[in-house]
Amino acid sequence: MADSETEKVLALFKECDALLRGHFKLTSGKHSEWYFEKIRLIQKPDVLEKIVDLLVARIKAAGRDFDYVVSPAYGAIAIGFLAALKLGKKFAFSQRVDGKMSFRSGFIGLDGSRAVVVEDILTTGGSILEVLACLKEKQVEVAGVYVLVDRTAGSVLIEGRPVGSLLALKVEAFEPEECPLCEAATPVTKPGASDKK
Ligand SMILES: [Zn+2]
Repeated sequence: MADSETEKVLALFKECDALLRGHFKLTSGKHSEWYFEKIRLIQKPDVLEKIVDLLVARIKAAGRDFDYVVSPAYGAIAIGFLAALKLGKKFAFSQRVDGKMSFRSGFIGLDGSRAVVVEDILTTGGSILEVLACLKEKQVEVAGVYVLVDRTAGSVLIEGRPVGSLLALKVEAFEPEECPLCEAATPVTKPGASDKK
């Protein structure tokens, strides 16, 4: 990816306040200077549209044929839906029912089709792997996996390959006792603490 495109993507994430800089306590307990407030990606649809346009260009450039864009609930639904609209494809989302990723039976025509998977942020790849397993059960051929942000910077492989991403960014996280921001006595915040399950 060209550096100018990275700059463009970063500017759009900042425009919707999805990429925050400060001193954050992550769910893992580690501390970080950067935090993605991913729900904010969908808060400004006009900004999200510009981000999705970049993703759509990436999907088109791959030149693969497919019928569906598929996204896991809930954060990626708006992103995948908008991408499907712009690509002229159908859309379906998966959701966890009793802990198992599945598709509602109302999505007809998904079985045996070809699909591109779109997710918001890749952190561990867990939910993407669940979606892929679910698609495999439905004999769906996967024509690509795309995320807006790959927080592993390509180190998590899905089916042996890094996923397509607009931004591949390894965010450094520190144990509290080794955190340079703690050392500088910067107040620490725990983002999203009030609504984490
Ligand atoms: Zn710290």
